[in-house]
Amino acid sequence: MSAIFGRKGVEAIAAVVAVRASNAKRHFPRYGPSAMSDAQSDLIAAAGGRLGPKVVVTDPADIEPWLSDWRGRVHGQARAMLAPSSTEEVVEIVRLAAEHRVPLVPQGGNTGMAAGATPPADGSALLLSLRRMNRIRSVSADNRLAIAEAGVILATLHDAAHEIGMRFPLTLGARGSCTIGGLTSTNAGGTQVLRFGTMRALVAGVEAVLPDGSIHDGLSGLKKDNRGYSLDQLLIGAEGTLGVVTAVALRLVPAIAARAVAWAGVGSPSDALALLRWLEARTSAIEGFELVPEDSLALVLNHIHGTRPPLANKQPWNVLIEATTADSAKDISAELEALLGEALKAGLIRDAVIAANEGQADAFWHLRDSISEAERAEGPTLAHDISVPVADMPDFIGAAAAQVERAFPGVIATGFGHLGDGNIHFHVRAATHASPDWYDREGAAITRMVDDLVTAAGGSISAEHGIGQLKLAEFARLAPPGRIHALRAIKQALDPLGIMNPGKLI
Ligand SMILES: Cc1cc2nc3c(=O)[nH]c(=O)nc-3n(C[C@H](O)[C@H](O)[C@H](O)COP(=O)(O)OP(=O)(O)OC[C@H]3O[C@@H](n4cnc5c(N)ncnc54)[C@H](O)[C@@H]3O)c2cc1C
Repeated sequence: MSAIFGRKGVEAIAAVVAVRASNAKRHFPRYGPSAMSDAQSDLIAAAGGRLGPKVVVTDPADIEPWLSDWRGRVHGQARAMLAPSSTEEVVEIVRLAAEHRVPLVPQGGNTGMAAGATPPADGSALLLSLRRMNRIRSVSADNRLAIAEAGVILATLHDAAHEIGMRFPLTLGARGSCTIGGLTSTNAGGTQVLRFGTMRALVAGVEAVLPDGSIHDGLSGLKKDNRGYSLDQLLIGAEGTLGVVTAVALRLVPAIAARAVAWAGVGSPSDALALLRWLEARTSAIEGFELVPEDSLALVLNHIHGTRPPLANKQPWNVLIEATTADSAKDISAELEALLGEALKAGLIRDAVIAANEGQADAFWHLRDSISEAERAEGPTLAHDISVPVADMPDFIGAAAAQVERAFPGVIATGFGHLGDGNIHFHVRAATHASPDWYDREGAAITRMVDDLVTAAGGSISAEHGIGQLKLAEFARLAPPGRIHALRAIKQALDPLGIMNPGKLI
């Protein structure tokens, strides 16, 4: 760890240490509204003087679009949005925040699903937007690394890697808006986790400004480094509660030479998992394997313009399979076709089709990616992003859906998504003609039931999306006490003033 301290920084850190002692008995400080507002005014004035109007945005019209979460369910307030363009500016802002005891809410593309980047409704925090930190500092095929600043959009990183014949192998539906800092801070997953893992596996190191204004520089991307606790790993998935991620070293793999995308019909989730294991025993090329129930496919075909069923006959369950190769001499389509032919003969699948071209491959993915949109068009839906041990997932989907549908007559429960990761989106749709207050009437009870079932199955109530604000209460209710105690101790040790994204995660 290295630190950059100017004179003012040393003063700020001395203040942090002094307050740490006086805070020993309580977790995080609370300030009255007028003290809060004076402190914010002082910070805004000081930051404006030192960093200028590009960094300190106070026009409500510029701030407004960033005050609500992606789904538009949670709304916050902030008097200013601080938008640094360099790590040094982030240091300056964090020191001022510590000095004036003003909490900061880091924000990237604001595509997170747990309202982690939405400021509190009482206006007690300022937004810290990392979107202007959008340089790719380096990209190297020899090191197999890219170093990207926190505000770099995922799609931009994909393009930069592609230009040197490499690939950053994590992708998801929000790739045109989400940022490297946000992906790192939520430990995002996506559709290629099966082969390459989540951000945790793909981040080689993190540069971050810690709550005392010091810089943790982990960008060297060392493959071997056993100097004790890994701060990089601690910051991944921390949801902005332990520091501000300013840049990330990301692992690259050789670019894809070709891909094959297939759609197959199977009898059940358990048949789907058997198919995946069968394929994996015969090829290492499978990197996407998404489960799609008939009911979800029907909704997409009904509501999403221009979509068509891939197979001639309806199947109870479907899987979208993607196989890739970096070897241009290999005919990956022929390989997948031959394997699916064998799987058909072996009775593992009922039907299958391979995309004839890239347009058709994209159309198959579009069906999968449109499920949530189609559900919203159908009516109110409760989304649960959950995981259980992979082998237990097929039974879990059936049993949990039956139990929820029995307890809440009329609702439709189903699971779709990343079956091979033991992670599905367990969605519960309101009964037809449900009144608009359905979320308020039944939502919490349904979610409690789903979360209880997941916990009883040894799973996680947040597989990919984090805790943020939306899962805070359920996390506190269901997490083992030891886990919560350890998280609190880490938070208290690194952020004793509670200035980093308060009210999120813990
Ligand atoms: C259409 C769509 C599809 C999605 N698909 C997937 C998927 O398949 N898998 C998956 O895992 N997720 C998925 N997501 C959600 C995913 O979490 C986000 O897309 C992404 O990880 C968040 O990046 P962001 O830049 O938008 O972060 P934001 O939403 O801005 O922030 C998310 C969290 O990170 C913190 N944060 C942001 N930047 C920083 C920083 N620089 N330093 C410290 N903390 C920071 C915030 O405070 C907040 O707690 C999807 C979202 C959408 C809208």
